[in-house]
Amino acid sequence: MYITVRLLNGFQKPLLYKLSGVDNRINGCDQRLVGSMVTVPLQKRFEPAIVIALHERLGYAVSFTVKEVSFDEIKQIDDRYFRFIHVLSQYYHTDMIHFARRIQQFVTQKPVNSVATGVQPGNTKTKSTKLTPDQQRIYIACTRAITHPAFFPALIHGVTGSGKTEIYKKLLIDCITQGKAALFLVPEVTLALQFERLLRAQLPSDIAIISFHSATSSQEKKQLWHFITGRKPLIIIGVHLPVLLPIAHLGLIIIDEEHDTGYQEKKHPKINTKEAALMRAQQYGIPIILGSATPSVTSLYGVKHKGYTFFTLTQRFAGGFPTIRIALLGDESKKKRPHFWISQELYSALQDRLDNKEQSIIFLNRRGHSFFVQCKKCAFIFECKNCSVSLTLHNDDKLSCHYCGHSRTEPPVCPACKEPKKYFIKKGIGTQQLVNILQKLFPDARIARADMDTTLKKKSWQETVKQFSDGELDMLVGTQTITKGYHFPGVTLVGIVWADLNMHMPMYNAQESTLQQLIQVAGRAGRQSASSLVVVQTMSKHSLFQYLDECNYLQFYAKEIAQRNALGYPPCKRLVSIELKHTYENTVERESYLLVQQLRTIANRHSIQVQILGPAKPVVHKVKNTYTRTLYLKSKRMDECIALFGSINKKKYHSSVFFTPNPLN
Ligand SMILES: [Zn+2]
Ligand SMILES: [Zn+2]
Repeated sequence: MYITVRLLNGFQKPLLYKLSGVDNRINGCDQRLVGSMVTVPLQKRFEPAIVIALHERLGYAVSFTVKEVSFDEIKQIDDRYFRFIHVLSQYYHTDMIHFARRIQQFVTQKPVNSVATGVQPGNTKTKSTKLTPDQQRIYIACTRAITHPAFFPALIHGVTGSGKTEIYKKLLIDCITQGKAALFLVPEVTLALQFERLLRAQLPSDIAIISFHSATSSQEKKQLWHFITGRKPLIIIGVHLPVLLPIAHLGLIIIDEEHDTGYQEKKHPKINTKEAALMRAQQYGIPIILGSATPSVTSLYGVKHKGYTFFTLTQRFAGGFPTIRIALLGDESKKKRPHFWISQELYSALQDRLDNKEQSIIFLNRRGHSFFVQCKKCAFIFECKNCSVSLTLHNDDKLSCHYCGHSRTEPPVCPACKEPKKYFIKKGIGTQQLVNILQKLFPDARIARADMDTTLKKKSWQETVKQFSDGELDMLVGTQTITKGYHFPGVTLVGIVWADLNMHMPMYNAQESTLQQLIQVAGRAGRQSASSLVVVQTMSKHSLFQYLDECNYLQFYAKEIAQRNALGYPPCKRLVSIELKHTYENTVERESYLLVQQLRTIANRHSIQVQILGPAKPVVHKVKNTYTRTLYLKSKRMDECIALFGSINKKKYHSSVFFTPNPLN
């Protein structure tokens, strides 16, 4: 018996090995070995590899000695895994080894002795959670697909605070009780940590729960591998990585906050974990449950056109829906406002909360270059030397780039006209400045900040969340991080400082993601209280605000899908972004035109119905001294886009060329 393997270290050529010790175990050694992770001897060391083919005998003579590998060293993990990553690699135009390498760290690990044995099937005592009739109905429909495994894509549209988690918990318990593994995916690591704690506290203690993400310790990874290879029931929580694991006994995938664009990875290949999970659920014939208070346009389209089962939860578990008030930050009301960025409405509402000892969340999505420093004398703007973005001012006179981390101190004079720094003006607003403003307006209030700067320090973020939950803070100021899934019962006011900040981003889904974010943050208000308020401050009134009441969300879908259909955007048509990157702007510019030309020629020759748009210079076209140009393919069929791109000879290009199907950001 022989095997052909591909090394995970990036070595392209397949290697051939003879399998020893299989004579008396030949029955267990069939085609299912293909896709297995193995360690093979190479010179004087051992290297992890994946089996790509199996041969009973060699049909040809070889001129070299074929090394032997022992059957004992082969770890048969998941016989459907190979097919899954093969499909994924074709979809993303990426070498399949890329996916195997993401979890390479596991392959060489020895099993550990001191791990929990996990629950045996049938052992789990269900802690009784009483579901409402609506929750019960959804639970019953979904659990059927776990017991009688079938591809069952379902979308739960449950308003904020409607108790989707209660349904998830029951489904997870069912999956574990039947001896299977379940994936529970969330769009951010901080959320994964939060759900890990929540599920540990609320599910029976004999259920194994392991998180797998960038912050997972090596001990936890060992334990996870032990459970997977031993096919023990467990719940795996994470963001992107869990879906790439070989799990033979996978029985359920849950994707919470399914609308979140964070499911698409930031680095190339920009894998959309939700899409990958859907492919996997289909191949493995298992249920996949998507849940959100603001379902993605794509998933709602899936309900209409791809047979997803649709469930709704329209009632809040406790509390009522907040009142929404729009406050214009226009010039005419400038003089009457307590501060340029704080309207009278928001000010009084905050004061009321303080008087009644209730809590407030103040949301400001200051991503990118919304806060910059300019010289009044000569209009000079401080920009990053590595990126095409302006620098953001932080409290300590430090100007930093949010893309590459480059920072400098604010100089005493303007670098361009040499006038003193008293002429520098600060435009826009950031969360740090907002905290200062609020502290001046409300000197006695206890105010804390939660954004990227602080969430990078996970400990301090968790500490802040805890303090706020325990009622030790009056106001929490934050960016999109606070919109995601957190449950703060004491909050009766949400202030949105600058609602139309990101509305005009040049992406086809900009309105969708802006609205989802605003509804999610508004939904933090009134989880336990009947009367709560959301104050939405905006520079100009926008038609999108009529959908801010989450009960109107499906009306937004109707409007949005008509528009996407008319303009030919996903999910009505397929969209692919192709990015070229190079350190010389001339090269990337020239080659982007060349690529468009080449794609056109091939499309014409093979009569491929595709629209080729671009090349265009993105808003942020230079990051870390690398220049980018983007072009787009629009078509009815993704397979045609994939084939078209596949026929380009990428070796002819000096630029790196990246392919992203259905880009989200
Ligand atoms: Zn930079
Ligand atoms: Zn100047």
